[in-house]
Amino acid sequence: MNTSFHPTPRTLMGPGPSDVHPRVLGAMAKATIGHLDPEFIGLMEEIKVLMRQTFRTQNKLTLPLSAPGSAAMEASFANLLEPGDKVIVCINGVFGMRMAENVRRMGGELVTVEDEWGTPVDAEKLSAALAANPETKIVAMVHAETSTGVCSDVKTLCALAKKHNCLTIVDSVTGLAGVPLEVDAWQVDVAYSGTQKCLSAPPGISLITFSEAAAECVRARNAPVQSWFLDVSLLMAYWEGEGARTYHHTAPVNAMYGLHEALLMVQEQGLEQSWQKHRDMHASLAENLTGLGLDFVVHSDCRLPQLNLVKVPEGVDEASVRKQLLTDFNLEIGAGLGAFAGKVWRIGLMGYSARQENIQLCTSALRACL
Ligand SMILES: *Cc1c(COP(=O)(O)O)cnc(C)c1O
Repeated sequence: MNTSFHPTPRTLMGPGPSDVHPRVLGAMAKATIGHLDPEFIGLMEEIKVLMRQTFRTQNKLTLPLSAPGSAAMEASFANLLEPGDKVIVCINGVFGMRMAENVRRMGGELVTVEDEWGTPVDAEKLSAALAANPETKIVAMVHAETSTGVCSDVKTLCALAKKHNCLTIVDSVTGLAGVPLEVDAWQVDVAYSGTQKCLSAPPGISLITFSEAAAECVRARNAPVQSWFLDVSLLMAYWEGEGARTYHHTAPVNAMYGLHEALLMVQEQGLEQSWQKHRDMHASLAENLTGLGLDFVVHSDCRLPQLNLVKVPEGVDEASVRKQLLTDFNLEIGAGLGAFAGKVWRIGLMGYSARQENIQLCTSALRACL
């Protein structure tokens, strides 16, 4: 108890956090400076530019939040939604359910479009829901459903929502830098992500961007955003403002060093190359696991390369295998959630975890445990 904490180094191949790149950890160990120091303000400016490049957007209102992905989800709804507004939430896993819960708690009128776990959001169902609910204000969806390993067709779903003049909210916490996301080209109004999935940084920070239409919606609110901390109009006075910045909260300075380094590394590699890397590593893992006789849950058409759901073979206790992987191999993989609990493993290949050496370790360790 009275000694420093020394975690055992692990290989993180679960649903997040994923392995943190040594360059990011190194950046975070740099000297802390004041959050209103001109050098830190310069860093904030660079972070916003890097974020726009990574989200593929020109959105002015693009900023990190000093809180994890779930806070960005909450911020999306808190800023756009006013009590009584009708919101369609597409649900095909845990995170869609969490979005729906946000809408309920904020007094929105919730309409759900539900698809089976392990399948993508069905555009036909969304289309029918939009036709049946013409006064819908917002359509929300999860790009990369981490609970099921499914990628939904955000481009098509947002185009449908736009035809009905709705604002769109897209959760790309697991998607960003792992699979293509084109915020502007796909007409996404609010997109958010997190640091600990495909960006190879530690958990705790989220990234969010608002289109001009979404920003206008915030400006046109009747009542102020109920959450003081997540009100983007207040946050922007801190993250923007030429020269004069008003204190809002103390930014987690070293965590921002980490985010900056992580985004810089994505740009150095190239976003397309990052998407391709995830596809390549997935192909390599899939070949190995198929060789071990393991089956994938999600159809290859809509499978996320960075999050692989694998069926637990008949007669195998999934929890004891995970325990053995951790204790004997220092390897973490994820358990199934909800309908998939006890039936699947979730093997992440996100960001710095998407490496050949991780794939070899995972393959040989699973071979030994099975
Ligand atoms: C991880 C995740 C979140 C939540 O992020 P936290 O940083 O854990 O709060 C939200 N949505 C999806 C799809 C995720 O994978």
